[in-house]
Amino acid sequence: MENLSLFQRLMNYLLGTDRKMFQEVNIDREVVDEILQIARNSYPKEFVAMLQGKVKDNVLLIDGLLFLPGETSDQGAVMNLFMMPLIDEGIGSVHSHPGYNANPSGADLHFFSKNGLFHMIIAQPYTLDSINAYNSFGERVDFKVI
Ligand SMILES: [Zn+2]
Repeated sequence: MENLSLFQRLMNYLLGTDRKMFQEVNIDREVVDEILQIARNSYPKEFVAMLQGKVKDNVLLIDGLLFLPGETSDQGAVMNLFMMPLIDEGIGSVHSHPGYNANPSGADLHFFSKNGLFHMIIAQPYTLDSINAYNSFGERVDFKVI
C-alpha cells in the first residue's frame, strides 16, 4: 500500500477496490489437497465450490472451500453457481472439468467476469499441475501453494 501513488489511492478509494487488490496468490496446501481429492472423487461429474480467503498486504490468501448444495452435476457445475451470487466471504470459485482441458469455457468466462476475484479450473489427471487459475478477466494468474 505504501508504494501506491496518491492518485491510485484516491481511485481505489473511489472505486472501492482497495480491499480487493492483490499481486500475489497463496493457497493453503490443505485446500489444494482437498480440491484434488474432490475432483477425483467427483469424476466423471464436475464439482464446484467457492473459495474463501482474504486480501492482506496485496496478497490474496485462499484458506477454505465452501460447498453449495448439489455441487456435482452432469450439466456443468458452473450452472449451479450462476443461480446464486457469491456470498461475501466467497472470493472466487473452483470447478473441475472432465477431460484434460483446464481452459475456461464461454460460460466460465462469463461467470468469472461477474463473480469474485480469483478462479481455478482443475482438469484431469487432477494434479497440482493440471490446475489453471484465472482472474475475473479470464487471464492466467500464478499462485503459490503454502
Ligand atoms: Zn468450466
